[in-house]
Amino acid sequence: MLGEQIRQERLRLAIPILGALLLLNGVIGMLAWQDRQARLEAAALQTEHAAQIVMQRSEAKLRQLDDLLTGISEVLAVRQGVPAKPDLYVHRLLVRRNTLTDGVHWIFLVRPDGFLAESSRQFPVLPVNVADREYFSRQLEHWDQGLYLGAPLRARLQGESFVPVSRRVSNDGGLFLGVAAAGLNPDALLELIRDQSQSLPAGFQAGIFLPEGVALACLGMSCDTAGLQASPLFARFLPGEAETCAVRGAPLLDQTAVVGSYGRSQVYPLVVAVQVPQALVHQEWLQQMRQQAPAALILNLALVALARVAHRQFRRRRDALHALERANQELERRVAERTDLLQASEARARAFMNTARDAVVVINDRQRILEFNPAAERMFGYQGSEVLGQDLSLLMPEEMAELHARQVGESPLLEGGHQMGKGREIQAMRRDGSRFPVEVSVGSTLVGSEPVHVGILRDITERKEAEWQLQRLATVDGLTGVFNRRAFMEQGEQMLALARRYDWPLAVLMLDADYFKKVNDSYGHHVGDQLLRLLAERIGAVLRSTDILGRLGGEEFGLVLPETGAQGAAELGQRLLRVVREASLPLEDGGVLRFTVSIGGATLEAGDGCLDDLFRRADACLYQAKDGGRDRLELALPGQG
Ligand code: GH3
Ligand code: MG
Ligand code: MG
Repeated sequence: MLGEQIRQERLRLAIPILGALLLLNGVIGMLAWQDRQARLEAAALQTEHAAQIVMQRSEAKLRQLDDLLTGISEVLAVRQGVPAKPDLYVHRLLVRRNTLTDGVHWIFLVRPDGFLAESSRQFPVLPVNVADREYFSRQLEHWDQGLYLGAPLRARLQGESFVPVSRRVSNDGGLFLGVAAAGLNPDALLELIRDQSQSLPAGFQAGIFLPEGVALACLGMSCDTAGLQASPLFARFLPGEAETCAVRGAPLLDQTAVVGSYGRSQVYPLVVAVQVPQALVHQEWLQQMRQQAPAALILNLALVALARVAHRQFRRRRDALHALERANQELERRVAERTDLLQASEARARAFMNTARDAVVVINDRQRILEFNPAAERMFGYQGSEVLGQDLSLLMPEEMAELHARQVGESPLLEGGHQMGKGREIQAMRRDGSRFPVEVSVGSTLVGSEPVHVGILRDITERKEAEWQLQRLATVDGLTGVFNRRAFMEQGEQMLALARRYDWPLAVLMLDADYFKKVNDSYGHHVGDQLLRLLAERIGAVLRSTDILGRLGGEEFGLVLPETGAQGAAELGQRLLRVVREASLPLEDGGVLRFTVSIGGATLEAGDGCLDDLFRRADACLYQAKDGGRDRLELALPGQG
């Protein structure tokens, strides 16, 4: 699997590299081809140019000779033709003209019979017959020959090679009077070509020819006449009447393919051709190609290396992107998973909140309400939407708000909030302003970076009432509603302790209903009970708020009077006697029951250890009061006990 992947990877790399290589080498090839064509073109232009120049100069040379021979012919026509005998004047004329004309071996005259008449080289000239030479016979046979230009010959006297040029000498009537001729040095023609060789490509071949395929001067090639006549130039192009032509990649002067050019003179029987073998041009080009090949190879290798580097970069980037994509997908998957879990957890939390019997109120650190469950709505009488975002103080009496805020602030922050604070009892306030006791447990935690406090509140009104009832039962006398003996003594002891600490006076009174037994016996126990209740009520009505009243047992009541000395105790005792005397209990038979009490009292003395010490003295006084006739008050004097 991995192997297959690597193979495909390589293939994917190879295709663009191959493409790029193809393109690069295509461009290189195209440039090379253009270079090759440019070389051929340059060679063609060079040969064309050279052929033109050589042609112009050859024509100029022949014109010069034509003028020379025409001039001599005209002089001879005036002097009755070519002299039959040696004529020094004419000889000097020839010598002078010969000297003035470059590239000419000699100038000579031929008589109509074919014998040499005069020569610039000799005087007198040897009697040599040249009637067989074409430069003579052509002029003899064709009166309109004009300038004759012939194939190179070897001179009969000096033996040197020359190119014959001749003109007919005739009188005004056209009578043939002989021939004026010149022997042109072939080297002079060769020079015309050689002068151009600088501007020609190496290996060039050039020649000046007669139209029938005879070479007058050749450079870089053989002047084999037979070969020339069979060449495309003479066998095909010139007979085809093409005066000038450029040849590319075809044979011209021999059978090899060349780049070349030729031209035929319009004025003289003259053909000039210049050529370079195409193979030579190619060879030069190939040589340069060979020199440049390493550079091309390096370019190819560089391209491959570049492609590999680029591909590697690309692959790395792509791999990185793939990795990133995979990581993203994984992240998304995890987020989705977490979101599901979170949603489920939130649904559970919401269900818990909605179904909880206890009120749940969540606030933030600034006491703003964040959650308010249905139980809380029922408890406080608010809709959740009304309180969300509101301050928590909305839900409690003013005096509680500050204390509660402080306590919430002290609740320890727990990561995850596993632990709730211990339940605390506070006062809460409903929408209608009514107060009620709640037990609240607060747990604090961080949600993100924000601390939140979760309060679970339970209405404890009923429990509180039950507690209160219990407490009442424990401290209050069930019949009369005043303190029972135990509670009375406890309260009294506290008062005694305060009085001793601050050195306040304190008095106690003991009060006993007179002849109570008779009431019970006469009217029944329930009337006795009613009377006891009436008695407690009347006593309570005249007391100060700080005085403590308790039922000590049966029809006997006790009083602890803080900040009361002997006089105060006496006054109160008297008032109590009066109040009781004035009280009456309505009876079922329509009558009323009147009754009295006897009272014994004592005040705090320095030696008193506990409340019982005072009550012992008071009890003694009460006894005295009973003894003394009842409905009276007896107070123990200080130091009496
Ligand atoms: P005295 O003037 O000497 O005080 O005469 P007395 O009849 O009041 O004498 P005593 O103190 O001996 O009698 C008290 C009676 O009070 C006895 C008891 O039956 C009655 N008694 C005690 N507790 C209650 C009570 O709770 N209800 C009623 N109806 N009677 C009670
Ligand atoms: Mg009594
Ligand atoms: Mg009694």
